[in-house]
Amino acid sequence: MNAYLVETEASVVAVDSLLTVSASRALRAGVDQLGKPLRAVLLTHAHPDHYGGLRELVAGDDVPIIAPQGVIDVIVRDDPAKEEILRPMFGDEWATKRMFPNTPIADGESVSFDDATLTVIDLGLSESPHDSPWVLGADEQVVFLGDQIYDHKHCFLADGFHEQWLRNIEILRDRFPSDVVFHVGHGGPVGASDWDWQRQYIETFLGAVRTADWGAPDRAHTAVVAEMKRFLPTEELQFLMELSIEPVAAQLGLTSAAA
Ligand SMILES: [Zn+2]
Repeated sequence: MNAYLVETEASVVAVDSLLTVSASRALRAGVDQLGKPLRAVLLTHAHPDHYGGLRELVAGDDVPIIAPQGVIDVIVRDDPAKEEILRPMFGDEWATKRMFPNTPIADGESVSFDDATLTVIDLGLSESPHDSPWVLGADEQVVFLGDQIYDHKHCFLADGFHEQWLRNIEILRDRFPSDVVFHVGHGGPVGASDWDWQRQYIETFLGAVRTADWGAPDRAHTAVVAEMKRFLPTEELQFLMELSIEPVAAQLGLTSAAA
């Protein structure tokens, strides 16, 4: 997964942290190598692989961690549940003391650091329960998009907001120039032509879940995985897709089990 450092004349701004302690420390080492102070961290959405290592990234500096209030609220609300899921998977690499964003920003507001101006788009429900891409500069040609597009990797749909995600794909597609560069959370950079792939992935996944025979849940799971591997023959982030199958089936009313 990706986090980003924006280097300006006299400072560094980070976009997201990483999931693990060691990766986020390495990101911090990148800041220190630039020899300029970290001035802020901006968050692209509420998922733990983008905020888990904030404390290691900030490393004691008194800097604002900026996100829309909705992103802040979701992180605070869902963090105990993420602890239960991620601790067994990652052990000590999932930070025991985590830091949360502390500085809310409203939709369309900007923050400036030297010659760099970054403007937030408060998307609300999308790939996560609250998403907030950041646009660099007035020409809107460089965007830190978070996870609105995965770069040909399997996707996480378990939060269940695929309808809003699909709607946001069309809103964002219309907003940016055709030569826009999207820096994304997984892989990339990608461009405007990748909206089509992302839409197809979501629609293929929904179709696979709908057509599976949920009378036999294990076989249904296997059938969805097989269909998605036909669409995208890679194991990259396959576990995120697999985590999404039963929650989406429940959401679509195909199983009696709660998500
Ligand atoms: Zn995400």
